[in-house]
Amino acid sequence: MTDYYQILGISKGAKSEEIKKAYRKLAMKYHPDKNPGDGEAEKNFKKVSEAYEVLGDQQKKQVYDQYGSAGLDSAGAHSRGGAAGGFSSMEEALRTFMGAFGRGSNGGGGRESVFDSFFGGQEFRGETDLARQGTSKKAQLTLSFEEAAQGIEKEIALTKYAECKNCKGSGAQSPRDIQNCSTCRGSGYMHQTRGFFSMSSSCPRCHGSGRVISTPCGECRGIGKVKRKERLKVPIPAGVDDGMRLKMTGHGDAGEGGGPPGDLYIYLRVMPHDLFARDGDDLLLHLPLTFTEATLGCEKKIPRFLSKNQILLTIPEGTQSGKVLRVRKAGLPNVHGNHEGDLLITVQVETPVRLSVEQKRLLKSFQETEGPDNSPKRKSFLDKFKVFF
Ligand SMILES: [Zn+2]
Ligand SMILES: [Zn+2]
Repeated sequence: MTDYYQILGISKGAKSEEIKKAYRKLAMKYHPDKNPGDGEAEKNFKKVSEAYEVLGDQQKKQVYDQYGSAGLDSAGAHSRGGAAGGFSSMEEALRTFMGAFGRGSNGGGGRESVFDSFFGGQEFRGETDLARQGTSKKAQLTLSFEEAAQGIEKEIALTKYAECKNCKGSGAQSPRDIQNCSTCRGSGYMHQTRGFFSMSSSCPRCHGSGRVISTPCGECRGIGKVKRKERLKVPIPAGVDDGMRLKMTGHGDAGEGGGPPGDLYIYLRVMPHDLFARDGDDLLLHLPLTFTEATLGCEKKIPRFLSKNQILLTIPEGTQSGKVLRVRKAGLPNVHGNHEGDLLITVQVETPVRLSVEQKRLLKSFQETEGPDNSPKRKSFLDKFKVFF
């Protein structure tokens, strides 16, 4: 299992500033701008960014602390990749880096990247640019035991900020209403030179976007997105369990100023079943037997879960209460899709009640013939007990 704490070289109790500091140090060491063409550094950069993506986010960290990297994201609706999704592209890693230490460089326009300002030495500018990722959202979905086992497509209703159709997210009434900011000449930041130091700060007029809108869009009042009710189809993979979380990338609130949308996290509740329980991919079943069935042995037909077929069980003579019988591959499909669990049947011998006079007579005559060899456990218990006297 991937240990994100270990990757960042911090302990499990680390505070958020400590996590950020550790990430910053490593990310700067391995940043691709500093190690051009170095595949090893690139790998490390992705690794530390992936770790920070989780530990730097209160919500993700909580899930990770509870379920580990085998949480559902890897089996989510979009990717069936390695542990915890894994950062497959440098783009994702860079996005995490930008998200942590400033935003910029995605707007383009010849501005230097945030990264340059780290390594430029004297130059540092604050957060600039309008490009902001949309907020991630949470939703809850309740499934029946069978739905979780089989997989299903569910529809959910959610209210979210979606891109304004009128202005296509630009915030302007028409494209002609977007102009370069005259205060900063479209650069988004202001330069000041004081002695040796060259200081930059984001432009107070355009807040770093480099653009101003003369006539805001009437539909969204210039923010580029509007609140909208949406119905969303959620594909649930077979084998999900109670407490798992699905990530639907890009289904959160719309971004601002060309920023990417947030994600949607769906928390799953799975209702219990009348007959079956589960332990991971294994199905659990309790099978009551009469004491004669358990004593003499018998055959039992039990339903195969989610199937019309039956399973024929052979109960051997002298089966004890609590004995677990295993039927291979009769459990639930693994959510990662590579194997099935087993069916575990626990035998419960039921002591007979409400005996008739005749039944009591028969049992009493059986009792008279009963010897220590009929109950080996009881015999060995009594033998051990004698030591105390
Ligand atoms: Zn400006
Ligand atoms: Zn609009």
